[in-house]
Amino acid sequence: MFKMMMCKEATHLMSKRLDVPLTFQEKLSLKVHLAMCSYCTQCNQQFSLLHETGKQYEKLIERDIVTLSSGSGDSR
Ligand SMILES: [Zn+2]
Repeated sequence: MFKMMMCKEATHLMSKRLDVPLTFQEKLSLKVHLAMCSYCTQCNQQFSLLHETGKQYEKLIERDIVTLSSGSGDSR
């Protein structure tokens, strides 16, 4: 039988999932909680959105660094 997970735990798992893969048990409890909790479902969407934005932002920064290092050679 499942122990009802609290929203705090659920959000913790959501943010943890962005860094490390969850165990089967964790994934399952998160899924069960999301099925019952509309607040965390919204939260979960925000997290995935944030994660996508973060990845795009990292790419932008990388491009900026390349642009900067190739363009600032001759000016002092
Ligand atoms: Zn919740």
